Parts: sequence; structure tokens; C-alpha cells
Amino acid sequence: MQCDSLKRRIFSLNTCDVVILGGGPAGCATALSLRSHFPSLNLVLLEVSAYDKPRVGEVLPAIARPLLTHLGIWEGFEAEQFRAVHSQSAAWGQPSLIENHFLYSARGAGWHLARTRFDQFLVEQVAQRGVEVRLQTRLVSITQPNSTPNQLWHLHLCDHTQLQTCFIVDATGRRATFARQMGGRLLVFDHLTAFVHFFTITNNPSPGTVIEAFRDGWWYTALLENCRVVACLTDSDIARKLGLKDRDRWLALLQQTSWIQAIVKDGVPQGEVLVRPANSTRLDQVYGDHWLAVGDAASAYDPLSSQGITKALRLGIFAGYAIGDQLSKGDTAGLSKYASLVQREFEYYRQAHMQYSTQEQRWSQSQFWRRRHERFQA
Ligand SMILES: Cc1cc2nc3c(=O)[nH]c(=O)nc-3n(C[C@H](O)[C@H](O)[C@H](O)COP(=O)(O)OP(=O)(O)OC[C@H]3O[C@@H](n4cnc5c(N)ncnc54)[C@H](O)[C@@H]3O)c2cc1C
Repeated sequence: MQCDSLKRRIFSLNTCDVVILGGGPAGCATALSLRSHFPSLNLVLLEVSAYDKPRVGEVLPAIARPLLTHLGIWEGFEAEQFRAVHSQSAAWGQPSLIENHFLYSARGAGWHLARTRFDQFLVEQVAQRGVEVRLQTRLVSITQPNSTPNQLWHLHLCDHTQLQTCFIVDATGRRATFARQMGGRLLVFDHLTAFVHFFTITNNPSPGTVIEAFRDGWWYTALLENCRVVACLTDSDIARKLGLKDRDRWLALLQQTSWIQAIVKDGVPQGEVLVRPANSTRLDQVYGDHWLAVGDAASAYDPLSSQGITKALRLGIFAGYAIGDQLSKGDTAGLSKYASLVQREFEYYRQAHMQYSTQEQRWSQSQFWRRRHERFQA
């Protein structure tokens, strides 16, 4: 189903049980989880975009399969025929490229996702299960007229309509737009930023992901359906000095890589450099009175981990249980368990991330690596 046919599914519903802000993996997983475990709840998903701009975040590890199965969308996912990826190679901590073949992994191959198509697939699954999906819809303002228990939220939308709801899910991604409005504080652990280019493909090299560290950060490339994505990741202040927003300077830096430039040497870069935040963040408070944050809005990881999408799906599943318990039984225990899960997973991630960063010692005096090594020693 394309965006136009999604738009036609709008019913004239003014009151609902749950409004989900954001139709990325986290928002869609929350909607699917609520739909299958609490089918009597009315859900509305608001998505600000029409899924018409390029999105990044392509590597889906094999561990996603049980999550997609749990959400009831594995067969649909298989039918989409995303590109299977059988290996990952990294020049990390040493100059040669070391290949890790998933043949030897119990879970098997992962996938390279054309991200916009994957997110569209998810939201179509949500709409097909009877959730009202409104695309290109922005929240203008929100009020909670009285602070008495079970008081409805009043949402004023950009199309001049209003919605009333018992519960709001913030699945707006790293910006955590709603949670921050509710007083949630974003804890920021670094300022990693991705500078991304898509390249045309002229040949069909091995589809595995390739990662290469350099003095000021690291690069990655992945093969998508009709192009290759290439990203340079560094801290925002270092990026300013390197002039990475400028296409020519980005291309000049690419030429200094050993492996990445060789892979894309015959490709042609398309359009301008896309700039995306890629830093590690966590909300100090992931739920409050009849609201909850999920996915990157709750906690965001360095793309090096390739865990962002599976984390979004997993947290969406747990969020569905916790919200359903509060709305159907008045039981809030699930919400506090959910908050502990987000915090515990973030701590594991931070430990693993710091250990991985210390494996790269070739430029330990450079600002980028020094920052990461010092944090590990602290
Ligand atoms: C360069 C880069 C590479 C990455 N690579 C990988 C990877 O290889 N593997 C991996 O697993 N993860 C990767 N990630 C991380 C991954 O993309 C995210 O963790 C994942 O997309 C989080 O899903 P989400 O649904 O929480 O947020 P998002 O995917 O950001 O979705 C948020 C949605 O909310 C919408 N929205 C925003 N504001 C509003 C609003 N006010 N109202 C309504 N809708 C709104 C947005 O349009 C969007 O659809 C990468 C990230 C970056 C930056």
C-alpha cells in the first residue's frame, strides 16, 4: 500500500485510547504490540512525514527475526525480499580488513534494508491491522485540561482537527519531542554525527557491510537495492573543522580511506551530504502520567552497534504490554519495569561500546579517540 492509499484509511475518530507520535520502527512496534495483546483499544498513529525523504540505518541483524515473528509480520517481511547480508568486515584496531562471516553464526544472515521502504512496510502492517494512521500530520499543541486521574489529553493537529486520548507514546526518534515537553531531560553522552552520501552502483561487489576507522572517527558502507550508502562518523566539532558538510571536502576525505574508497570508486555520489545525529543519549525519565517514550526517543545508540532498529522493535513490544496493563487494569508496575529495562540495556550498551572503542589505539592522541578512551578509563 502506498502513502495515498494509507491516507484514505482515515476514519473520523475524535477520541481514542492511545496516540502514537512517530511511525518509525519503535512507534510501529508499539502499535502492533498493543493491537495484538489489547485489541479492544483504539489506536491512532501520527507520522509527520510521507516517507518521501531518504532515511538512514540499514543493517538489520538476524536477531530481528524473532521480534518480527512476535509482532506477527515476519512473513510480510520475508515477502519484501530485502537483501540478505552474509558478512561484515572491519578495519578496526589494525589496517587490514577482517571479515566476520555470518555462516558461523547460529542466527544466520541479517539484511540490508532500504530504510524508507522498510519503515513504509511497517506502517502498512500497522494500518492493515486497523490502526488509524495519519501521515503528514504534526502535533501543534497539547493540553491536559485537569490533572485528575484518567483525564484525557487534548491534541490540536496541523490539519485543524482535534483528538482526545488517554495515553501518548513518544516515538519521535532522537528528538524525543513530546517527552522533553513533559519535562524529560535528555542525557547526552557524546556528539557523534553522521555525514552520509548515496552512490550509484556500477558493479555488484560483495554486499557485506564494511567499517573502517580513521584518525577522526570511522566510515561505513552498505549495499542497498540500487545504490550504496557511505557514511563518515565523527564528533560535530571535529566535523566543522574538517568541513564535512561540504561535498568536495567529504569526497576528499573519502579518498584518504584505504578500503571504503576502493569499494565505491566507480560509483557516482548523488545529491548533497545528509547530516544526521548519531550520538548516544538517554532520557532521565522514560514515562510519566499517561505517557511513555520508546525507541530512540527513550535511548539512542551509536550506529556502530547496529542495534538501533532491534532495540526499537523490542522496546515497542514491552511498551505495548506496559501501556495495555495501565489502561485495562490500572496496573502501572509494567511502566516501572519498562523504565528499568531501558536503563539496564543502555548501561550494557555503554560498557560494550567503550570496550569496542578501546580496541582502536592507532590514533590514541587524536581528539576523537582520546575522548572515547578517557571515558573508558574514568
Ligand atoms: C547514520 C546512522 C546509521 C544507522 N545505522 C543503523 C544500522 O545499521 N542498524 C540499526 O539497527 N540502527 C541503525 N541506526 C539507528 C536506527 O536508525 C534508529 O535506532 C532507529 O531508526 C530508531 O527507530 P525509532 O522508531 O525510535 O526512531 P526513528 O526511526 O527516528 O523514527 C521516528 C519517526 O517519527 C517521526 N516523527 C518525528 N517527529 C514527529 C512528530 N513530532 N510527530 C509525528 N511523527 C514524528 C519521524 O518522521 C520518523 O518516522 C543508524 C542511525 C544513524 C543516524
